[in-house]
Amino acid sequence: LGMARRQHRRHQTYQEGQDEQHLRQLTLIRDLQEAVSGQQLWIAYQPKVDVRSGEVIQFEALMRWQHPTLGFVPPDEFISLAERSGNIRILSRWMIDTVCAQLHEWQRQGHHVSAAINLSAADVMDIDLPERLLGTLNHYGLEPRQLGLEVTESAVMQDADLAIQSLEQLSQAGMLIAVDDFGTGYSSLAQLKRLPVHELKIDKSFMLHLNTLEDDLTIVRSTIELGHNLGLRLVAEGVKNQANAILLGQLGCDYLQGYWIARPMPAYQVIAWLNDFQPL
Ligand code: C2E
Ligand code: CA
Ligand code: CA
Ligand code: CA
Repeated sequence: LGMARRQHRRHQTYQEGQDEQHLRQLTLIRDLQEAVSGQQLWIAYQPKVDVRSGEVIQFEALMRWQHPTLGFVPPDEFISLAERSGNIRILSRWMIDTVCAQLHEWQRQGHHVSAAINLSAADVMDIDLPERLLGTLNHYGLEPRQLGLEVTESAVMQDADLAIQSLEQLSQAGMLIAVDDFGTGYSSLAQLKRLPVHELKIDKSFMLHLNTLEDDLTIVRSTIELGHNLGLRLVAEGVKNQANAILLGQLGCDYLQGYWIARPMPAYQVIAWLNDFQPL
């Protein structure tokens, strides 16, 4: 009897946890649109550093949401909810406009900063994407080189022909395109060859045990070799310590990004951080 009651109670708390989770998701989806107009979103910038010159080459722009009652909501949570509820393009438009406005402001102050934004599947399948991006860059007096794009293979593959056509156009215009999270999911080398990309970002999961696990080292080494053979630049994300960085340098990795160099920071800290930064 005691056991049955215990199981019943366990089931009850499981059910309550499920309900709570579901309620949270509904609340977040409901509040997503208001987040944009209600100024609850902001952008964190994380630098990417050139291994050889030691210089900062670009900042990745990462979205942040401070919800009025739920507090900080992790992007992995709200981005996927926005994707599933059809709200992602609203967030992406806000992102494109806000990053370009920020780059314009830095440029006006005499700082030449470039940034990269992350795109979802719905963005790369949006027929208006090239015009929106190039139009916004033009509006803020920016060169296409100053804005990079990060896309995952799975996002591109949802409608490869359309995505490749858009990315081709943006690449021709001078924008730099990176394949994000490379090495996770199904990577198809045949597809990779078709993509108009300049960079491969090796997923951060490989950095965790890079210096201790032979397997991870082998994967990272072959990815760098493969990327270089295809004429691409290699970026390691999630670089967590100096041992990581040194090893990646020895392996010929081009750019590094990770908490060891800098955590993502709000826009107002970027210029001060750049001024203090000691090339690696
Ligand atoms: P991502 O594009 O792969 O971005 C890298 C994530 O790793 C970021 O998490 C970053 O803060 C984190 N990171 C950077 N260095 C380190 C490190 O050394 N160690 C560890 N453990 N983590 C590190 P974040 O900002 O939480 O973003 C998570 C994901 O949410 C991103 O992964 C991206 O897929 C998505 N995301 C963020 N902002 C946007 C956006 O504006 N649009 C879209 N579509 N997706 C976004
Ligand atoms: Ca990214
Ligand atoms: Ca990534
Ligand atoms: Ca990711």
